[in-house]
Amino acid sequence: MKDRTIPYKTYLEFNEIPKQWYNLRADMKNKPAPLLNPGTHQPMKAEELAPVFCEDLIKQELDNDTPYFDIPEEIYKFYQMFRPSPLVRAYFLEEKLGTPAKIYYKFEGNNTSGSHKLNSAVAQAYYAKKQGLKGVTTETGAGQWGTALSMACSFFGLDCKVYMVKVSYEQKPFRREVMRTYGASVVPSPSNDTNIGRKINAEHPGTTGSLGCAISEAVEVATSTPGYRYVLGSVLNQVLLHQSIIGLETKAALDKLGEKADIIIGCAGGGSNLGGLIAPFMGEKLRGEADYKIIAVEPASCPSLTRGVYAYDFCDTGMVCPLAKMYTLGSDFIPAPNHAGGLRYHGMSSILSQLYDDGLMEAVSAKQTDVFEAAELFARVEGILPAPESSHAIKATIDEALKCKETGEEKTIVFGLTGTGYFDMVAYEKFHDGKMDDYIPTDEELAVYRARLPKVD
Ligand SMILES: *Cc1c(COP(=O)(O)O)cnc(C)c1O
Repeated sequence: MKDRTIPYKTYLEFNEIPKQWYNLRADMKNKPAPLLNPGTHQPMKAEELAPVFCEDLIKQELDNDTPYFDIPEEIYKFYQMFRPSPLVRAYFLEEKLGTPAKIYYKFEGNNTSGSHKLNSAVAQAYYAKKQGLKGVTTETGAGQWGTALSMACSFFGLDCKVYMVKVSYEQKPFRREVMRTYGASVVPSPSNDTNIGRKINAEHPGTTGSLGCAISEAVEVATSTPGYRYVLGSVLNQVLLHQSIIGLETKAALDKLGEKADIIIGCAGGGSNLGGLIAPFMGEKLRGEADYKIIAVEPASCPSLTRGVYAYDFCDTGMVCPLAKMYTLGSDFIPAPNHAGGLRYHGMSSILSQLYDDGLMEAVSAKQTDVFEAAELFARVEGILPAPESSHAIKATIDEALKCKETGEEKTIVFGLTGTGYFDMVAYEKFHDGKMDDYIPTDEELAVYRARLPKVD
C-alpha cells in the first residue's frame, strides 16, 4: 500500500477560491472561429445577439483577448456555498488497479444540482438580473442544466422557464420536481406554447421531442417575451469561461501539494467541464511553459471529435441559432438511446474544436457498457456514485493507469468527476440486468448527416 503523505482530500481555503475566471482564448494563436449569422454567413455582431442573450454574457462570448475576468462579488458569495470543491487522491482506485500512477479527481457533484453546471448557471442568472430582466428560458434534456439554472434563478429572484424534452419530462419526474421546488416552470417539449412546438406536434403527432427542438422553443419564447433572454449550459465560449473555476482550483490545489499533472482527462458533451478543467493547464501549454497530455472522452454512440468533421453547423435542430464552427456529426443527428444524457450533443465547443484540430489535445470514445463497468468499479472503491457522463472520464483514466502498470511509469493523472448519478438509476438498472446496448453508428449513417451540413465558404 502506498504511503499517505498526501491527504485523501485537498480543499483550498475558503478565501483561496479564484477571484477571476481565465479566458483561454486570450492565449490561443488560432482563435476559435466566430459564430455566423445563419442568413448572411457574416460573423454575428453583439447587436444581433442582443435579442437572444444577456449583454454582459455577449461581451464575454465575443472577447478573444482579455485573459482574466473578475468574478462579481454576488457570484463569488454564491460559489462559497459549494466551493472550493475537493481535489481527491484516488488512493483506493490506485490500489484496486495496482498501478504506480497517481490518480486525482476534481469532484464537482457536491451541490444539490449534482454537477458542475451550477458554476455557469449562477453566473448567467446574475448577469440576467443585473440587466434588469424578468426571467430566462432554457432547454434541458436529462435535467442537470435545468436543475442548476432553477437553483441560480431562485437565488437571484428571476423567473425560469425550462423546456424539457418530453421523453425526459415523463421518464424523469424527480428532476422535474427538483426544478419546481426551486420555482422553475417546466414545460414538456414540443409544447403548444410556441410556433415551432405547434408545427412539430402537427407534423409528428405523439413525438417525444428532442434537445434541438427544445432549444428552438426556448429561443422563440425568449425573443418574443419582453424582459426575457435565453441561456445555454454548455458549448458557448462564455460557459467555458465560467467553468475555468474548476481548472484554476485544481491547479492551485496541485501547486499546494507540489504535484504536477502529466495527463488530464475529462468527458466531453458540449465541452464545458473539460474546457474549464484544462483551461489553466492548456494556457501553460500554449505559452510554452509546460506540457500535458489532455484527453477528451466521448460516447462511442455520439462521437463528434473522433468521427465528426470540423465545419460550420447549426447549434439546434430548428436552425434558428447562429452557425458555429465545430467538430460535428450534423445538427439533425440523433444518437442511439444511450444513458449519458449530457453527452448526447451533435457538436463540440468551438474552443475545444480548434485546440483539437491544432493537435493540442487528444480524443477517445468509450462504449456504454465499458463506461458503466468503470462506474461501478469506481463506486465500490471510492464511494461516490458517479454520473454516467463523468464515468467516461473514469473509464479513460483506468485505461491510462493500467498502461502505467505495464510500463511501470509513475504518472500523475487528473480527471474531472463532473457529477453524481442518483437520477440515473434506470441506466444502472439496465446495466445490472444485462439490458444495456452498445449501438455505434456506422460510417454510412454518419455520412447521411454529414451530407446535410450547411454550405459555408
Ligand atoms: C452536462 C454534463 C456533462 C457534459 O457537459 P459538458 O458541457 O461537456 O461538460 C458532463 N457531466 C455531467 C454530470 C453533466 O451534467
